[in-house]
Amino acid sequence: MFFFLKVGFMEIKKLLNNWYRDNSRDLPWRSNKNPYPIWLSEIILQQTQVVQGLPYYKKFIENFPTVYDLASANEDKVLKLWQGLGYYSRARNLHFAAKQVVAEYSGHFPKTYKELLKLKGVGDYTASAIASIAYDETVPTIDGNVLRVISRLFDIDIPVDSNNGKKIIKGLMIEIMDVDNPGNFNQAVMELGALVCKPKKTDCDNCPLKEKCLSYERQNFLERPVKTKKIKVKDLYVDYLFLSNSQGVIMQQRNVKTIWKKLFEFPNVTSEVELVKVNHLEELRSNYSKNSSELFFITEMKHKLTHRNLYIRFFKSKIPESYSRITSWDELKRKAVPKPIEVFLRKFREV
Ligand code: SF4
Repeated sequence: MFFFLKVGFMEIKKLLNNWYRDNSRDLPWRSNKNPYPIWLSEIILQQTQVVQGLPYYKKFIENFPTVYDLASANEDKVLKLWQGLGYYSRARNLHFAAKQVVAEYSGHFPKTYKELLKLKGVGDYTASAIASIAYDETVPTIDGNVLRVISRLFDIDIPVDSNNGKKIIKGLMIEIMDVDNPGNFNQAVMELGALVCKPKKTDCDNCPLKEKCLSYERQNFLERPVKTKKIKVKDLYVDYLFLSNSQGVIMQQRNVKTIWKKLFEFPNVTSEVELVKVNHLEELRSNYSKNSSELFFITEMKHKLTHRNLYIRFFKSKIPESYSRITSWDELKRKAVPKPIEVFLRKFREV
């Protein structure tokens, strides 16, 4: 086949293993083969770089040293610790899966790739990472780093987000895998993608695979991996109403199925078309308290999510001191709130 010409599989394996032995980062979940920290780190690090994810991992391990602690935790606490990481469904699934491990597997993680897939929030990537790292099962782990490294190494010009592309990458990973140490091998490819074979700042001069890499030879590595699908991003307009007094603030829990499910936020009006007037907020304000002060604009911000551009405006009104259906300032510290609300409270709570 076209990519077998230059590349010797045995040699690749050896070069990667040696490089990983000398260059892998010393990360807390790598100190042993306990599946709990491995699982925790893999869920936290999905779509998050190690430098951002590490403090979250430490917080979770500190608060929930075992899967039993996580399973018996209050969901609000789990979401609060996750706050700022985004993709809150992952935190809810993490909590659910911990309960599954305790209830259905007597606190012991399933030991095979196939069985691990039964845990909520555990897909192909996470199951293969846990199965190979904790249990030495020979299954390739395919994440964004692996797609990039393999598509460059073998100069794959088929889109990696197509079924065919994924199949080819997986097949190549199986071909070059170190069956004696699959966990290390998977981590070596991912680590190379994270530290050397980066999307734009590709450090080919320090890459152990330089002499083997077809994309390097053809100098087209910045055009790999090829992708077809573009994420459709929708605009969403949100007007938040910050209703507070000296005791606290009016908060509500999101129960919608879309973003930030179960997080706490201010009463709001959300629309797919731009919000210009504020009549809707006036109505909302008087629904909560007819005696609240006049509404005034405080600030606006744009917040980007993978599938959404949020255009957020914040308005404030003082509610009477006698108003009792509020979340106290102290209680608020324990509630998970969306990032824009966190930023707003930090800067404007006292306004
Ligand atoms: S030589 Fe460059 S493009 Fe090829 S695998 Fe190494 S870092 Fe990536």
